[in-house]
Parts: sequence; structure tokens; C-alpha cells
Amino acid sequence: MDDSCKVIAITNQKGGVGKTTTTLNLGVGLARQGKRVLLIDSDPQGSLTASTGISSPDELDKTLAELMTYEMTGEDKDYIYESDVIKSFEGVDFIPSNISLSGTESALSNCLSRESVLKRSIEAIKHDYDFILIDCMPSLGLLNINALVAADSLIIPCEPTFLSSKGMNLLLGSVGRVKRQINPNLKIDGILLTMVDSRTNNARDISAALKSELGPRIHFFDSPIPRSVKAQECPLAGQSIFSYEPNCKVALAYESLTKEVIKLGGKTKDKSRNVSVR
Ligand code: ADP
Ligand code: MG
Repeated sequence: MDDSCKVIAITNQKGGVGKTTTTLNLGVGLARQGKRVLLIDSDPQGSLTASTGISSPDELDKTLAELMTYEMTGEDKDYIYESDVIKSFEGVDFIPSNISLSGTESALSNCLSRESVLKRSIEAIKHDYDFILIDCMPSLGLLNINALVAADSLIIPCEPTFLSSKGMNLLLGSVGRVKRQINPNLKIDGILLTMVDSRTNNARDISAALKSELGPRIHFFDSPIPRSVKAQECPLAGQSIFSYEPNCKVALAYESLTKEVIKLGGKTKDKSRNVSVR
């Protein structure tokens, strides 16, 4: 086990809240600060993969699915690692995914130690990185449980909408079960407010309500990500916000998030509060 690598799952079972955008831009942000970063696309929709400029993720034949399948069947994973499964994008490494990952999720249910397949799949390469970020799919299914088991900590992107605190309680329940049963050291680094439209009272009210409900238990990052059309344009351009529009408010927000994440430190020095969910 390598203690210097911190594995962070970017998770929320709700779709469209900025998980993929955060994984990519935090990853590139960390690399710009000199960190060695690996991103893992753990969503069969392959949005992270597509956002790096790979136009047809479904045509890739070496992906996270093959890596996890090799782990499940006991075959030699070195073969997969040597067969260029790890791609490169703006200074970060990443393991792509495509639709074949949904078959992997079904196969997981019949395999031994099914919750820890992802964790075991990346054990051999952890020493190459300071941070591994896992972009989760929007569900509470087995693939996401695998991400929670592989992770040292979580970042939870959350769009401040009326229903977001309801969904948050479901997610925290799931996190609580994983902590109790499989990964007792799992921490929540914090909730990241995304797509924040600070001009509207509604967004301000909901953000304040979320903070007063969850703030006593969970840290909120100081760098909410503003809503901006620039963020929407990046995936199409196949670029991070740092190369697409380096001085825009979204780039500045992701830069300060990056600094906050570095300040939290590696997993052994993690200052984040332990979430206590029964
Ligand atoms: P998730 O991975 O949680 O489904 P995404 O990161 O894919 O969410 O974001 C959902 C959509 O919102 C995408 O089209 C993305 O480009 C857009 N988006 C993400 N962040 C922002 C932002 N700060 N402002 C405006 N649009 C955003
Ligand atoms: Mg996504």
C-alpha cells in the first residue's frame, strides 16, 4: 500500500450536477500545481472520456471495463496496463470508459469481493500518482460502491436546487453503510456547490439552507463554481477550462478549489471532518 497517493471519488447519484466537469478541471488544476494525477472515468456514458477530445469512446478497446474484468477473472493486469489503457490529457493521465462498463457492472454482482474490484485494479499503479480522481456515474449501484471502497475521500458536487438536500441524505446513507461495513476510513472532503448563479436570490437562499442543514456535519468548499456558458463549451472543445478560457470566473474558481484540495493534504494528514452518519 502506498500512503502518499490520495484517491478522491467525485460522487453524487444525481446527474448533471458537475461531477465530470469537476473531475476534469480539478485534475488539470492539480497537475498545474505540479501534482501527478490520474483520472478514472467510472461512468459507462463515457462523458469524461468524451470531454478529453476522444470523439468516439465506444470505439476504444482498452478501457476501465477490461481492467476490472481482468481483476475479476484473475488474469494478468500488467497486460492491460502495458497496452496503453492509460491515456494522457493536458498533463494528467486518465483511464477511459465507454458503454462496455455497464456489462462490467452486471458481471460484478457474481464475483467474489465484488465491492473492491476497482480498489484492487488500481493498487499496482497508485505509487505513480499523488492524486487519483474517480468520476462516478449517477447512481448508487455497484460501480459507485466500488468507487467509495477504492476512495480515501469524497468530493460531492451539488447544484443548489430545491431537491438537492433530499438526494444528499440518500447519498450520505450510502456513504455511511460503506464506512460501517467496508471502508471505515472513508472521509468526506466536502460538498462543492456548482453552477451557482449568485445573481439570483433563489440560489442564495437554497445555498444558505443547504449549509445550515448539512454544514454542521460536512465541510463546504470555499470555492463555489459559478454557472457559466464557458464551462459548457469546454467538453465540446475537448479542453479543460484552464486551456479554453484561463481567466474566466470558472477557471479561477477551479483554481482556488485546487488549492483547497491541496491544503487538505494527503490522506494521512486529512483534516476533513469524519462524517457521522448512522
Ligand atoms: P455530471 O457529471 O454530474 O452529470 P457534468 O459535469 O457533465 O455533470 O455537467 C452537466 C452539464 O452542465 C454539462 O453539459 C456541463 O458542460 C454543464 N456544466 C458543468 N459545470 C457548469 C458550470 N459551472 N456552468 C454551466 N454549465 C456547467
Ligand atoms: Mg458525469
